[in-house]
Amino acid sequence: SNSREDIIQSRKNLPAFAVKNKLLQVISENQVTIVIGETGSGKTTQLAQYIYESGYTSARDGKNNNKIIGCTQPRRVAAMSVAKRVSEEMGCKLGEEVGYAIRFEDRTKKGKTVIKYMTEGVLLSELLTDSLLDKYSCIIMDEAHERSVNTDILLGLFKKLCAQRRDLKLIITSATMNADKFSTFFGNAPQFTIPGRTFPVDVFFSKSISFDYVDTAVRQVLTIHLQQMSNNNKNDGDILVFMTGQEDIEATCSLLEEKLGLLDNPPPLDVYPIYSTLPADVQKKIFRSKSDSRRKVVVATNIAETSLTVDGIKYVIDTGLVKLKVFNPKIGMDSLQVIPISAANAQQRSGRAGRTGPGVSYRLYTEKSFSEQMYPMPIPEIQRANLSNVLLMLKFLKVDNVSKFPFLDPPPRELLSCSLYYLWSIGAIDHLGSLTSLGHDMCKFPLEPSLSKLILLSCSQQYHCSDEVLSIVAMLSVPPVYYRPKERAKEADQSREKFSIGGSDHLTLLNIYTQWERQIKKSRGNSEALTDWCNRNFFHKKSLMRARDIRNQLVFNLQKNKYNILKSRNDDDIKKCLCAAFFNQSARLTKVNMSGYQGIEYHHLRHTYMSLYLHPTSVLNDSTSLAPTFVVYHELILTSKEYMNCVTSVD
Ligand code: ADP
Ligand code: MG
Repeated sequence: SNSREDIIQSRKNLPAFAVKNKLLQVISENQVTIVIGETGSGKTTQLAQYIYESGYTSARDGKNNNKIIGCTQPRRVAAMSVAKRVSEEMGCKLGEEVGYAIRFEDRTKKGKTVIKYMTEGVLLSELLTDSLLDKYSCIIMDEAHERSVNTDILLGLFKKLCAQRRDLKLIITSATMNADKFSTFFGNAPQFTIPGRTFPVDVFFSKSISFDYVDTAVRQVLTIHLQQMSNNNKNDGDILVFMTGQEDIEATCSLLEEKLGLLDNPPPLDVYPIYSTLPADVQKKIFRSKSDSRRKVVVATNIAETSLTVDGIKYVIDTGLVKLKVFNPKIGMDSLQVIPISAANAQQRSGRAGRTGPGVSYRLYTEKSFSEQMYPMPIPEIQRANLSNVLLMLKFLKVDNVSKFPFLDPPPRELLSCSLYYLWSIGAIDHLGSLTSLGHDMCKFPLEPSLSKLILLSCSQQYHCSDEVLSIVAMLSVPPVYYRPKERAKEADQSREKFSIGGSDHLTLLNIYTQWERQIKKSRGNSEALTDWCNRNFFHKKSLMRARDIRNQLVFNLQKNKYNILKSRNDDDIKKCLCAAFFNQSARLTKVNMSGYQGIEYHHLRHTYMSLYLHPTSVLNDSTSLAPTFVVYHELILTSKEYMNCVTSVD
């Protein structure tokens, strides 16, 4: 069903197509337009094409290149998959007329690409070097209602930019929530609503609070699915389950497969996980045309709430939870936390069941918690996440007094001061709040401040280990490299041990990377040999490939900026460098349980009341050696306890 004609026909069937001319009219008459439409109406895939077709890319930039259309996405996966889809619709190769750019990966061609999908982060970093965004004639900020920190910063910067570049068109697409806010922010910019058709959705709440949402969701899927048997075995619609992240998605999928396996001859059910770090080819499978007899169940993160449309969904199962970055004022840093969604999100999720026909939504929470405990609207990230990174960028853009920045919703004062304090404590700004030369240099890398600092330190004569540090940073910038299939967990763990470097997860990552490079040399372009090596050692090849790309980009970046790439004299160079860059992220051993390694506990070195634990995947959990007294860690993950992820002993 993917022939050109089919694609052209399905474009014409989208709600956006029916109002194309009216919409283009509004856009031509206004500098800023807010576009509102149901999910699946064609905002993401069609808008940029309409604008392209009506000639907005024939204007020229200063260097006589055609100006292009940029479309931002809050998520990397969306930028990639949408660019792929739109290139198919336009009948061109991905990376030519239609391309995408995400951090460390640019698949656009200068002089050729006319529509560029990118993450909001990419557009922000382009602003650092081209403050007028000269190469664009039009920017579409897609899914702006998601309100990532980057969305809000871009909106603030656009306020001034629109005055400086009267020829620039700005289009903001949004779900209904927040649309008024955007209009007001841009001087009552017009709102254009794409009329959509939606079907009624019956909503059911749980009677009681469930403690194991994975188990409850699986039971609900099976209840829906097995009704099919009494229904002449016809699939009456697909199922979408909202989970919080990779771990509970995988748990749900495997529990589901397990329970299906115990049944006697169940009707066929195809199970698809979907989360942001899942390889793109696996994700693509969920778009395959549905067959009438096989039902599919898509187990997804929040990504399926608005940014990804799967056709044919009739049932939604909503756990009512989402995993978000939340600022932890105790340590002045973010941690990922699973928290309840807002009522607006709950409505949005339920709505996903009513796109192609009447649907049903099962909410795995009580009506009472919906009406009494959920916030009506989600809290924008700018009011709950660490802002160090963007404040650094704003300082670079000479926005000196951040409290005067035009925020759509101002961040709480404590959050601003905590984030500024952090920048000061790592030496990025001085006592007066001005960017230091270190801070200035840190902006040259598309990385969080602590990793930029790690790289900069490693290039110095004192630490002398940038060659190794680049590999470590690259490995820290990709999705986990290990996989651990349940049925071969023991084998996977043994293989992992082979690569372990005692006392340091960072050095272990370095070791894996070094061996990987060695394999690449050995394989002389034989891709199968590499796949084989990865499979044998339980590594995700995709992650390792990406780590290599990122490292190459970083090397290029260092050379361009004339920094030295220095090989370490010994592991101590690396450990000292880690220590110097991560002194804010360090902990001291406080408790060792007599029964062995199980009960060891650390306390944050500065926020001493704070208990921290080694993440179960850390090589420091090795029961044969003593727990180190001092450690530094890369990040905290809060689940049942506060875990330090990627840890190195610095005794
Ligand atoms: P919106 O942004 O308004 O939610 P989209 O432009 O994303 O809508 O989607 C329009 C239609 O295109 C949807 O019906 C969806 O099924 C289809 N579509 C989007 N992405 C893909 C893809 N990668 N493969 C196949 N179909 C897609
Ligand atoms: Mg969209």
